[in-house]
Amino acid sequence: MIIEKIHSILKNTFGYHQFRPLQQKIIENVLQKRDTLVIMPTGGGKSICYQIPALIFDGMTVVVSPLISLMKDQVEQLQDLGAPALFLNSSLPPEEYQKNFDLVRTQKIKLLYIAPESLLTSRILNLLETIPVECLTIDEAHCISEWGHDFRPEYRQLVRVRQKFKSAVCIALTATATPRVQKDIKDNLGFLESNEFIASFNRPNLFLQIIPKTDPYQQTLQFLDSYKNQSGIIYCFSRRQVDELAAILESQGYSVKPYHAGMEDKERARNQELFIKDDVQIMVATIAFGMGIDKPNIRFVVHYDLPKNIESYYQQIGRAGRDGLRSHCLLLFGYADLSKIRYFLDQKPDPERRIAYQHLDALVAFAESQQCRRLPLLQYFGEEYHEPNCSMCDNCLAGEKKLDDLTIPAQKFLSCVIRTGKIFGANHIIDVLRGSEAEKVLDFGHHQLSTYGIGKEYSKKQWLHLARQFIQQKLLIKDDRYGSLLPTEKALEILRGDQKFYGLIQEEKADFEKRKDFDMAYDRELFEKLRAKRKEIADRANVPPYIVFSDKSLIEMAGFYPRSRSEFLEIHGVGQVKWDKYGPAFMNLIISHCKMNGIEAAPAKRQTVMNLPFVTSEKRRFEQVGELYNNGSSIEQICKVFAVKPATVLRHLFTYFREGNDIRREGLLTHSKLSPEERAAVLETFKEVGSEYLRPAFEALGGQINFRELEILRLYYLADKK
Ligand code: ADP
Ligand code: ZN
Repeated sequence: MIIEKIHSILKNTFGYHQFRPLQQKIIENVLQKRDTLVIMPTGGGKSICYQIPALIFDGMTVVVSPLISLMKDQVEQLQDLGAPALFLNSSLPPEEYQKNFDLVRTQKIKLLYIAPESLLTSRILNLLETIPVECLTIDEAHCISEWGHDFRPEYRQLVRVRQKFKSAVCIALTATATPRVQKDIKDNLGFLESNEFIASFNRPNLFLQIIPKTDPYQQTLQFLDSYKNQSGIIYCFSRRQVDELAAILESQGYSVKPYHAGMEDKERARNQELFIKDDVQIMVATIAFGMGIDKPNIRFVVHYDLPKNIESYYQQIGRAGRDGLRSHCLLLFGYADLSKIRYFLDQKPDPERRIAYQHLDALVAFAESQQCRRLPLLQYFGEEYHEPNCSMCDNCLAGEKKLDDLTIPAQKFLSCVIRTGKIFGANHIIDVLRGSEAEKVLDFGHHQLSTYGIGKEYSKKQWLHLARQFIQQKLLIKDDRYGSLLPTEKALEILRGDQKFYGLIQEEKADFEKRKDFDMAYDRELFEKLRAKRKEIADRANVPPYIVFSDKSLIEMAGFYPRSRSEFLEIHGVGQVKWDKYGPAFMNLIISHCKMNGIEAAPAKRQTVMNLPFVTSEKRRFEQVGELYNNGSSIEQICKVFAVKPATVLRHLFTYFREGNDIRREGLLTHSKLSPEERAAVLETFKEVGSEYLRPAFEALGGQINFRELEILRLYYLADKK
């Protein structure tokens, strides 16, 4: 009964098709009046955890939230869904305040949003004594802890308020994961252990990439080129950098505004508003920007400079992709930034300085790591992560690329290091290899060496990229003080031809994964029309466009062409009230677009498509892939159904297998291009070095067999063992 009710609100009011992990359990727990602590990353979907119970309870729910801008936003969204919500705070004009006050007093309201300091006034406390309060929601609950990054003393007083509403259940929510803060929240509010819900901090829709910072400005331009007309944030270290970069980008025709603490309050607020309303696409900002930003369609976050620690990095990239669509997080990693931050930290007194140094070191280790980016990131938050390949970070994708035999370039480079006396850094070595006439080369007489000019086939940038691989694979050791390179024993083996070197040549143009920006095929032209309509309606109502419909909703409209009420209600984020308000306007647009372009049927039925597009339904997808495959579909067919590459299907099959399912073994080999001998060698290698990870087998086989083949044969191998 109650479960049906929960689902009906999810569908009819919010327009979502299914719950995300934990949401339903949390809602049930709250409805049973058990105090509940919710830890979920930003964008995880905390809001409906208290909003759905609030709509079911007979009495009122009080939501305490520290940020007025966020409150306003949430209330607007709820009102737009037809839910009786409002907020009371001092920013309201007196008449409106009184009107809201009366609505609460006469029990017309289900959700009352309020800042802690207002809640604590006797006026409000007296008001609340006269009406049944059934739920006290404490949002951003880390503010209660001195160990949190945003301690607010007023939050401490909430304990007192809580005792006033004896029959109210309390739900506290935060995105802060540290155990210390969690304990503080529970202790302060007197919660029981069993009512904690901690969601994974993995954000599967964020593509994580870290590249060496060589020419940040050009790199940024190239990056932005792949994200035309999309929203994003570029974080810089200093205010000066923000102003400079914003000015340059503007002069290049980008729609961009700066944001930092040195600006006038008014101008800052205006820039933020422009960004939120999609009037400006790019925000160049210091870390001052982002708190209280609820914009769901931020498609990229660029770190132009190095963040101070993993926590702030995670918090900042967390602002991307709240709508669950693929979003790109790029960090430009430069050692020069590192010394800047170190210099800055050196001004601090000792315990603080030492801790900050540790945090910085952890960040550097994270940036330099060759593992899946999610591994160290989630480990940092105390979470275990077992996916062998996330396919959403640079390192995992590089693992899928075939490494080339680059023994000859390695030999050229190494012998040049030796000929020049093992005292120079990569830049000089490369100058010699490329036959540069730089003064330094001529001064040392290096233009007379036999290695002079023998490496013109690669650009300086490509050589630098190679040099980093030589260091990573321990052919060379870099002296930290002088930057000089020293060959190791392994280097000598390569020079003698006893060992081969496998690596990657960097593409001339930085490779920003020019993938489709969303996981679903849709009609671009229609999308733009719908977007314009949304902007028009939003501007008229003076709200941000996402209050009307999310990008995800528009994408689904442009993908499924809903042309009836019932079809339209199938679209993500469309409930009854949204349909009544906006449905016809958008549907007419779709109908006329279809007429004009002779579009007949919708491209796919909801059933297939439900499984299709969004990363957030990852978990179900591997099950569907596994079942399809076992029922006789080929990998190619499955690729078509889900619009993914074979590598992705193979990865899903592996996950499916690891979850304890059987896998149809015949058919796997039809996808392998290896000879029977090679196959036998691979299977033998799995036996020797294990198959949990592919890299050991890859290395044991001398890099001759690519990861795709290994992936196929691993499945074959495992399916056999079972
Ligand atoms: P948080 O408060 O945890 O940062 P929100 O509650 O604002 O996250 O939700 C983030 C986004 O996810 C919102 O755009 C919301 O519409 C969407 N969302 C939440 N729950 C679901 C769900 N069950 N299905 C689809 N989208 C959801
Ligand atoms: Zn990864």
